[in-house]
Amino acid sequence: MKRSLVTAWVLILAVFALGLAGLAARDRTPEEQKVEEDYTVPDPGVLDSAVTIRVKIDDETVETMTMDDYVQGVLRAEMPASFELEALKAQAVAARTETLYKVENGPVANHPEADICNDINCCQAYRAAEAAESAWGADAEKYSAKIAQAVRGTDGMVILYEDKPILAAFFSAASGQTHNSGDVWVSDLPYLQSVNSPEGENEVPNYYSVAAIPSGEFRDRFLASYPEAKLDGAPEHWIGAVERNDSDMVTSIDIGGVTLKGTVVRRLFGLRSASFTVEVEDGDVVFRVTGYGHGVGMSQYGANVMAGEGKDYKEILCWYYTGVTVGPYTPKNLATAG
Ligand SMILES: [Zn+2]
Repeated sequence: MKRSLVTAWVLILAVFALGLAGLAARDRTPEEQKVEEDYTVPDPGVLDSAVTIRVKIDDETVETMTMDDYVQGVLRAEMPASFELEALKAQAVAARTETLYKVENGPVANHPEADICNDINCCQAYRAAEAAESAWGADAEKYSAKIAQAVRGTDGMVILYEDKPILAAFFSAASGQTHNSGDVWVSDLPYLQSVNSPEGENEVPNYYSVAAIPSGEFRDRFLASYPEAKLDGAPEHWIGAVERNDSDMVTSIDIGGVTLKGTVVRRLFGLRSASFTVEVEDGDVVFRVTGYGHGVGMSQYGANVMAGEGKDYKEILCWYYTGVTVGPYTPKNLATAG
């Protein structure tokens, strides 16, 4: 009896405290809310200003810039500036880490004269300030400040595994879980393992997508790559056994007697991810797809949901990259400025 009374009091106090917190959040005047929109541009970070990167732009010129300038350019291109600040910080650290990983693991064969390039099939995207500002329009001042805050608020921070920068893979939106790197690529890295990811159709545009391909076109496109496939007769018989892993990705699918990974089928038919179902409906081969991207490493929409729930960038990074730490790192193979 006594014990339940104490429990009841604790509950009442807790509810009261929560109510107060809720009131505090609701009672902000418009002026107070405006103050929260922070247009401050911090000074460049000491660590990022000390590192110089050679960036190949559009396969033409090589521009030399500080890590501070470069990571801002990646952030402008790789994540919507409307995302939560802590998500943008996580993306900034991933971009900085990816850059150092490339540099530390030797020159990229495509461009030995540059440390990194802006071809997304080779390195990572980059967007100059002027191009981003004209796209942002009325939000340009706010978003420019936010990008600078994300980069300078994480000055020199790098994701480390066994004290080395990691291959900081990221993608847009997961189908419930991220994937083990070994299920998608050749090598299975200990820090790129499957974890739960919180985003869904409420947060992600086109979270569920459909690709309906007329069966004749499907057959022609498939035979162009796999002429040995037997795609005769009714299309209902073309698709055989499908296997999935725990994170809902197609690991193996039989099409016309040819067994392929889901990632290969994704590429072949331009699907948004390798988490799909496939059926023949009214003469079309219909893929129903969940999420967007390769599914390895940090989910950007997942990071944004976590940031909205109050997680900071280190918590987000340590969630998506297994067994890592986040801290400063002194690059060994890079020129330093000044
Ligand atoms: Zn490259």
